[in-house]
Amino acid sequence: MSTTVARPPARKAKGTKPFIPDLVYFEPGALEYEKGKRIMEWVTSQNIPYQMTTSHNRITNLPGETEQEKYRMAKRTLVVGVRKTLKFDQSKPSAEYAIPISTGCMGHCHYCYLQTTLGAKPYVRVYVNTEEIIEAAKGYIEERKPEITRFEAACTSDPVGLEHITENLSDLIKFMADEEYGRLRFVTKYHHVDPLLKLKHNGHTRIRFSVNADYVIKNFEPATSRFEERIEAAGKIAHAGYPLGFIIAPIIWYDGWQEGYAELLQKLADTLPEEATKDLTFEMIQHRFTKTAKATIEKRYPKTKLEMDIEKRKMKWGRWGQYKYVYKDDQQDALREFITERIFEHFPLANIDYFT
Ligand code: SF4
Repeated sequence: MSTTVARPPARKAKGTKPFIPDLVYFEPGALEYEKGKRIMEWVTSQNIPYQMTTSHNRITNLPGETEQEKYRMAKRTLVVGVRKTLKFDQSKPSAEYAIPISTGCMGHCHYCYLQTTLGAKPYVRVYVNTEEIIEAAKGYIEERKPEITRFEAACTSDPVGLEHITENLSDLIKFMADEEYGRLRFVTKYHHVDPLLKLKHNGHTRIRFSVNADYVIKNFEPATSRFEERIEAAGKIAHAGYPLGFIIAPIIWYDGWQEGYAELLQKLADTLPEEATKDLTFEMIQHRFTKTAKATIEKRYPKTKLEMDIEKRKMKWGRWGQYKYVYKDDQQDALREFITERIFEHFPLANIDYFT
């Protein structure tokens, strides 16, 4: 295998290009599935180097001299595998369950919690046994009916950025369209939604775009689609009849945050087509980090401007068995109240699902 060092994330002057990995690994079992074979055809048609691996959980020989180089390379490495664990994690507060179709992401958001949750495995894994995953989802829906069961497809990844390779979201959307008691939702920072626009969805899938103040996007979200691209995609999604939403996350306290978040809501109001504002939801998540995340982020993005001063924060027990650091109560209240007011000023009919 060559020892090429990873390319830096694609520049975006001409629009953010869909993700093309530098290197692909296949689990042999993945090639027993139609989807695995199709991805192999795509990989060879793109002349991407590939190798076989015994397990998508053990990729150890990535090129790169330093840990940072290896990390960058991992973010450009795709692993095609079979999802063995079909027990779904919970996904509060946005849904009942996380539906696993991919793990890892090519984006370089400094604050991303995958930095810690994926530990030493930051490469991008996609799963080809979608039918088995759907079967498992059916089981969960059955168990809870007549309650509605919501599945979040973006807990461990940004699947829209991988859709041109896997078509996994398309499969889930089409399945959920016929499920009276099932709903799908996912969030994205990518604008590559065209494959989803013609699908039958019956309004059972809510697509949300992650948006933020300019300062946050410019400083902390390299290798994702630009704000304007995300909003244009949101317009297309609304036009295709999908329920639409926005997640403002992470909400960051910085000098000038009021102007930044006021401008964000103003820009949304100015650019969203009328039809996109009818059934709109907002979710708000303040910035948080753990001590482990802070150490990892400082190693991987040593020049980051992300403020992670434990002294300035409030400790909160996290469900992953570690304390997390959120903003102090007065700051939380100020952020929540200010942004909530801006949301209702521009979108009086919107629903705010939660602030956390
Ligand atoms: S796009 Fe989402 S999943 Fe990907 S790195 Fe950024 S925050 Fe993480």
